Amino acid sequence: MTTLDKLETLSTNLWWTWNSEARALYRRLSPGVYQASDNNPRAALAAPKDEVLDDPDFQDEVDRVYDEFRTYMERDPEVEDVPETAYFCMEYGLHESLSLYSGGLGVLAGDHAKAASDLGLPFTAVGLFLREGYFEQSFNANGWQQSTYPVLDPAKHPLSLVTGRDGDPLTVEVPVGHDTVHVRAWKLNLGHTDLYLLDTDFDANVEDHRPLTRRLYQGGDHERIRQEIVLGIGGLRLLRALGEEPELFHSNEGHCAFLMMELLREQLEKGLSLSDAEETVTEHCVFTTHTPVPAGHDHFAPDLFAEAMAGFEDEIDLSTHQLLSYGRVDPSDDEEEFTMTALGLKLSRAANGVSKLNGHVARQQWTDLYPDRPLDEVPIGAITNGVHLPTWTAGPARDFLDQHLDGDFTERHNPDIWTGLDDASDEELWRYRSSLRQRLIDFIEGHVHTQSLPMQPDLDPEALTIGFARRFATYKRAPLIFTDLERARALFANEDRPIQLIYAGKAHPADQGGKRFIQRIYEISQMEGFEGKVIFLEGYSMEIGRMLVSGCDVWLNNPRRPLEASGTSGQKIAAHGGLNLSVLDGWWPEGYNGHNGWAIGPEPTGELKVDRPDQEERDREDALSLYHQLEENVIPAFYNRNDEGLPPEWIDMMRDAMTGLPAPFSAKRMVLDYVEDMYRPE
Ligand SMILES: *Cc1c(COP(=O)(O)O)cnc(C)c1O
Repeated sequence: MTTLDKLETLSTNLWWTWNSEARALYRRLSPGVYQASDNNPRAALAAPKDEVLDDPDFQDEVDRVYDEFRTYMERDPEVEDVPETAYFCMEYGLHESLSLYSGGLGVLAGDHAKAASDLGLPFTAVGLFLREGYFEQSFNANGWQQSTYPVLDPAKHPLSLVTGRDGDPLTVEVPVGHDTVHVRAWKLNLGHTDLYLLDTDFDANVEDHRPLTRRLYQGGDHERIRQEIVLGIGGLRLLRALGEEPELFHSNEGHCAFLMMELLREQLEKGLSLSDAEETVTEHCVFTTHTPVPAGHDHFAPDLFAEAMAGFEDEIDLSTHQLLSYGRVDPSDDEEEFTMTALGLKLSRAANGVSKLNGHVARQQWTDLYPDRPLDEVPIGAITNGVHLPTWTAGPARDFLDQHLDGDFTERHNPDIWTGLDDASDEELWRYRSSLRQRLIDFIEGHVHTQSLPMQPDLDPEALTIGFARRFATYKRAPLIFTDLERARALFANEDRPIQLIYAGKAHPADQGGKRFIQRIYEISQMEGFEGKVIFLEGYSMEIGRMLVSGCDVWLNNPRRPLEASGTSGQKIAAHGGLNLSVLDGWWPEGYNGHNGWAIGPEPTGELKVDRPDQEERDREDALSLYHQLEENVIPAFYNRNDEGLPPEWIDMMRDAMTGLPAPFSAKRMVLDYVEDMYRPE
């Protein structure tokens, strides 16, 4: 094979998204085009190529990466006897060039699918072909977020239209309302994992139905329920049309739970009694719930449900009332809405939240579904999220880690491996931290030129650099640190011990409160004392995420507890020597040990209420706790230096975080837990 053939082949499997050496090859091929295309290898391949293809060193590197890929694809599975699993999720965060995600849920699903491939699991994933994805962020002159929807061209990505045996595109029919919608699919290869993305946006469908799969979390309930019918029912029909017979179905969050209704229909069609059919479906389904807010679960008015499911009802021998009962806590209550999570819980043999605390909150929330059981026996467990280390570890960080740790990334879910960092000297660790911070600042200085939101960074490569990047849902309280503007200003404007804070994130287009938060941060970034030190990076993506989680010294996370189900972004920083400064919510109560980062606010105790009458007071208390931690602990630890100019206390904490956190909060550990607790039959 020629060098070019190898690059072509590599580009067709998203394995390159978690191999930084592969990504570096495409960047070298055509740096400008690569960058302008959100780092899309196929765009770099389509561009006029420099002489680099003739460079023998480049050719050797391509050979090496290609061999690594072949070895990856050919190696034996790491775990045996895992049932063939089909994983469903509304969104997937795979790479910045594919806008198929809005935030943590999608990134988690992408990381799960990648780790399943690393383990060699028999695993297929199903999602939506979100041609217009989640929106692209820009701003008007007042710092008010605007949204545009660039259209994804499948020809420019490693997407192939799924075809049947006859070579024609495979389509399945799905009843939506009283109509039939035609659904086809695009396939992405993620290592060993096939990801099928369902698509209604083609000419077999009438104009009304074409947008069903186009955008993520857009439109009202009328559109949402139809989109979810396509995902759940259409997804299973597609797998059947492909001849797949998964033994296990994993629904990640309620959006895809109509899948279980289609499984039920299949069993009834085979002639099973209703109770036998329910039992069979339940045996083959597992369910993951995330959101701790009752209103955050998709729920649909009974009339809307009846209308949207009318065609499906004609295909299944059950009444509307019976269908509705699967999504109701109290099936006899004709007023109760249909909740997707209730459906997911009722027709699954096992369910989980995504951190111990989130599991606890979920048990509280759904206790009424299990009236015969005490709270601690509500059958919702917990598997704490983890991050796909190969995806989230910066290229330069890999070199450092490879020097100090045995084995490669495939083994780094093993906590023992990380103790190798105990031998890294203070000086080496500090040089590592400083170089990653410098790399981030270089990136920021380039990125701000591409923004519509004006930013003039004046960042100091030696200064304590704090990061905050996530969706701008208001419960995450992005501007909390500015609660007392003068107290905050004293921290930023301090000439001896300055701090600098980098933000990124998108507010949902309908979330006025979230947009107001961004606008406020923008306004503050222009004020005296904050100018140049408070930066908002536009267009939060996995790329900006990778840069921030690798470059920042401190990762700030201050949600209203218990609303952060897990919060994976803080898990991404540990391998880079970053430290968490976080409310004890989501995963952090499990990660925090008193000397590997800091806590904001009190420990979680007793009943964790979602709606607190004293919320504003809690906000103020958490802000005070945040100031206290910064003033008394975080800033002194960073700036107290020894004779060599190193911060010994800080480096001790770094070493603690780096040895203790990456393995237990890795996606590989997470997927192995799913295999043990959920996928394998009891
Ligand atoms: C990791 C990640 C998230 C999740 O962040 P949280 O802290 O869990 O909210 C969201 N978006 C992107 C792009 C990410 O990489």
